[in-house]
Amino acid sequence: MTDEDQIRRWEDEGGTHIEKERTMTETNVHTEHCCSIHGCKYGDENCPVVTKEQNQSYLCEACEEDGLTMEDVVETLLDIGATVVETAIEVGGQAAEVAGEAAEVAGEAAEVAGEVAGAIIGGLADVV
Ligand SMILES: [Zn+2]
Ligand SMILES: [Zn+2]
Repeated sequence: MTDEDQIRRWEDEGGTHIEKERTMTETNVHTEHCCSIHGCKYGDENCPVVTKEQNQSYLCEACEEDGLTMEDVVETLLDIGATVVETAIEVGGQAAEVAGEAAEVAGEAAEVAGEVAGAIIGGLADVV
């Protein structure tokens, strides 16, 4: 398999994933409070918003501080590209898990893990 084939495969899977997100209507504390860009408010390594299994319902406080709109959030995720979305789900999920454990030890699970997870996912976007 060439690199091009690999990328095309990731894009196909990413596209499917994004379609699935759009049709998902179930809400929970994560969809109501967490941010796919800035991370899980509760430091949950399995946050469905951070792993992009579900869309967030609202902008987080950091989004509002940055002056972002929901359109910006969606665009940012789309700008990252399907390839990176798929990779970020895997790598970001693992990184968020580690960050979550570290935050528990530090006794600042919610805030720290949310920021770290957001930064990791943001960093991935910058790299690619
Ligand atoms: Zn969450
Ligand atoms: Zn945010």
